[in-house]
Amino acid sequence: MSKEFGRQHLAARANSGLSPAESPMSAPQQNQAAVRRPPLKVLYTVAEAYPLVKTGGLGDVAGALPQALLRAGIDIRVMLPAYAQVLDALENIKAGPDLGPVLGGYSARLLQATIPGSDVTAWLVDCPALYDRRANIYQTFAGEDWPDNHLRFGMLSRAAAMVAVAGQMAGWRPDILHANDWHTGLAPFYVRAWGAAAPRTVFTVHNMIYQGLFGRDVLPALGIASGGITNDILPAGLEFWGRMSFLKAGLVYADRVTTVSPSYAREVCAAPIGEGMDGVIRARLDGVVGIVNGIDEAVWNPATDLFIPSRYDTQNLGAKAANKAALSSLGLAISAARPLIGVVSRLVEQKGIDLVLEALPALLHEGAQLVVLGAGDGALEARLTAAAAAHPGDVAAVIGYDEGLAHRIIAGADMFLVPSRFEPCGLTQLYGQRYGTLPVVHRVGGLADTVRDMEDGFSFNELSAANIVNAVKRAIAVYRDEGSWRRIQRQAMAKMSGWDTCAKVYADLYAELSAPK
Ligand code: ADP
Repeated sequence: MSKEFGRQHLAARANSGLSPAESPMSAPQQNQAAVRRPPLKVLYTVAEAYPLVKTGGLGDVAGALPQALLRAGIDIRVMLPAYAQVLDALENIKAGPDLGPVLGGYSARLLQATIPGSDVTAWLVDCPALYDRRANIYQTFAGEDWPDNHLRFGMLSRAAAMVAVAGQMAGWRPDILHANDWHTGLAPFYVRAWGAAAPRTVFTVHNMIYQGLFGRDVLPALGIASGGITNDILPAGLEFWGRMSFLKAGLVYADRVTTVSPSYAREVCAAPIGEGMDGVIRARLDGVVGIVNGIDEAVWNPATDLFIPSRYDTQNLGAKAANKAALSSLGLAISAARPLIGVVSRLVEQKGIDLVLEALPALLHEGAQLVVLGAGDGALEARLTAAAAAHPGDVAAVIGYDEGLAHRIIAGADMFLVPSRFEPCGLTQLYGQRYGTLPVVHRVGGLADTVRDMEDGFSFNELSAANIVNAVKRAIAVYRDEGSWRRIQRQAMAKMSGWDTCAKVYADLYAELSAPK
């Protein structure tokens, strides 16, 4: 052990709040940390990954980016919980190493499988007491967060850190541990607390609003000494207004923080979009890197999509009309003369669906129709259902989560509305572009970075119902001029939005971080 490393190691351990016995790493392994050989090994840890389990864009990203990283020559493994639905979705699961006790009195083992439709290896953290539950992965059937979410995602974070630091556990030691969102925010903390020289850690924020906040009473169960949350140097990085935050841990302890678009990376440095974490971000000398998401072009491709009744591409855009006609099954009186606006969204305040409802009378007055698929806030669900009942033939609302219907709406609508109050990246506007269903978006965050007004969609400043109506009116004017509409559709569909370019940026970042100093 070099003197320098030894000092850092001892200092980190002294400050970690963890007793040496709790560290899974032994001294000889720390010596190996300096040895790096190509290809770069990355452990990508995340709470959801399509097609195994998905509640939103995080699942899409974690399904597609690792495949692109594999294509870019990275030796990647994805680690996520062995939820009941994940085990149901997989065949050929192999038993992996036993991790023994991990935290809170819970032990776990790893299971190994290949993510369907890819060559990516998944490591599933198997702890039935925490993950063998039906219902949503984050919430009970009643819509409440699982009361032991700190343990469920503390387990994921700590299992990832253990495997990453003590490579002999799984016979594979990553150069980089890449954690995502609050669920895995503690992973960089554990790595730092154990004083490990490797792996280096990357933390990607997909949405700053979800912060993983818990009372400080959860600290012992997470294996973190609770002796004065605000006094200990390391745990101070977990403290957020008297509580602890998994998100803050990732923001403070990761070697590099990224987010999913350059505009959002700028916006989170200040209120209100920083959601109270803006000071934490400004305190990082290296800031936050914004890398815009891509889309999985194998899953979201109108020429090959098996969810949609009529496949098409830029050369036979006429075939798109059959997808619109098929939406009459939702009770819509479909007509080529009436532009159909689609919305597929989680129903949460962020997404601005309340403003769509406010704008609805004026949108109908302009001749538009509306189809919405979404689930979430009960009051919004009820208002959407009522709007559909009040305007039969012109408004359809489907409440629930339906992957196939999401594809059919994105293929069948003419326009796709994304009036988010803030948007870290947003994927549905990219899907809309790929399907020639032109997005109409609020110019914020990733929406500002991915939609160019009148070139591959429509965008507007200052979110309000009136501005939504004005932007849709502009879009309708172009819709009525078939030549111009087709031109913009083709430009949008031809746009390169695949993952390979972004994967290269991540690969470069990994290489830079893991290069010997
Ligand atoms: P977020 O991650 O904030 O939900 P994104 O636009 O990044 O927003 O990603 C949303 C993803 O979730 C898209 O793949 C979208 O199609 C999908 N989605 C959202 N709501 C539903 C739903 N009710 N049914 C099916 N898919 C949905």
